[in-house]
Amino acid sequence: MAITDAPRGAGRATPNAIESALAQFDRAADHLDLAPETRAILRVPKREWTVNFPVSMDDGHVEVFTGYRVQHNMARGPAKGGIRFHPATDLDEVRALAMWMTWKCALVNVPFGGAKGGVTVDPRKLSQNELQHVTRRFATELQGVIGPEIDIPAPDVGTNAQTMAWIMDTVSMHAGYTVPGVVTGKPVGLGGSEGRADATGRGVMFTAQRALREAGIDMNGATVAVQGFGNVGEAAARLIHEQGGKLVAITDVGGGVANPNGLDPAALKLRLSEHGTIAGAPGTEPIDNAGLLSADVDLLVLAALEGQITANNADAVHARVIAEGANGPVTPDADPILADRGIVSVPDILCNSGGVIVSYFEWVQNLQSFAWPADQVAERLRQVINGAYDEVSAMRQRDGIDARLAAQAIAVARVAEATQIRGRYP
Ligand code: GLU
Repeated sequence: MAITDAPRGAGRATPNAIESALAQFDRAADHLDLAPETRAILRVPKREWTVNFPVSMDDGHVEVFTGYRVQHNMARGPAKGGIRFHPATDLDEVRALAMWMTWKCALVNVPFGGAKGGVTVDPRKLSQNELQHVTRRFATELQGVIGPEIDIPAPDVGTNAQTMAWIMDTVSMHAGYTVPGVVTGKPVGLGGSEGRADATGRGVMFTAQRALREAGIDMNGATVAVQGFGNVGEAAARLIHEQGGKLVAITDVGGGVANPNGLDPAALKLRLSEHGTIAGAPGTEPIDNAGLLSADVDLLVLAALEGQITANNADAVHARVIAEGANGPVTPDADPILADRGIVSVPDILCNSGGVIVSYFEWVQNLQSFAWPADQVAERLRQVINGAYDEVSAMRQRDGIDARLAAQAIAVARVAEATQIRGRYP
């Protein structure tokens, strides 16, 4: 499991995740001329939980962990969104991530609201046994909060298919029967969908390919830098490489590697599994995050954490196209600086939506007790994400706005419509 600890907006004060999410929402609400009461409803989470729970560690001592689950909106269906294990996770970050999930699900038109969860923990410092106990106890604290018709978690930074298997098993033990639909991103042998593990990276590849094409660049032969080599970055790098993209720089939590003649993602994956980082891989030069973000490349894939490109470093970016594989990697104060310099961004809620699109497919397969083959999953993912890309392009051109505002406005309009049609209870 690789997570990236890149500094968040280091230097001059820049918006944090929740400030960014709210600034983006306000911009979309202004563009849509949203009614004040709808704006007030959508600006805040519907429900949120903070849980503190003890876990017996391997050496016998007891540690108290803090976890969060925020359900931002459920107007269009059950809440949906990942669970993050990261030392810097806090309630405000989870609030922002939950709001972004609401817009993401609405943009790609899957019948879900938005949620997110997190535990403040560095999973790299825990044994598998300790991780399992943290996960099972957190899932127990969320009893009644999560469920196939209420709120469906999935992997995020620092969690993976094994984490989802533990949550599914814990919920099933309490229910007294197997509840596969309570989480997505499970192992395939446990009702997970074919293609889910790669889905976010595959969506990044599809949308980056479209954006490059619009900029007159073929992915085949394009130079590419990737920040992050975890759930999203590794798959994106591999699939972009398969399309002929030339990977010239990649960073992860332990450092970074560069080679102007191209990097081999399979060799780096092996290096990661053996050394816990890609740094120091043979035949590569070291590169740090600042070097990667300012690399002169056709495509920069941001697949780490939020707040990576801010007003402080946007001037240094030299990529032609940015693909936002992470949530919130570019802050609102950086957007106009990048736009002025002619740099095109594929916004996060579009670019990284492949994960939740295939999560939706997994949930549907679980409810139907029927598994789809891998090629069908990949083809349906391609259709849904390309359809969303087309809608964003059409709105961008029609209203003369940037892709982020177009994506947010489409999403907010859908959630606002559902809210208005449902009316108010009581
Ligand atoms: N954590 C992923 C995201 O941020 C996936 C969420 C899901 O599949 O529910 O989109």
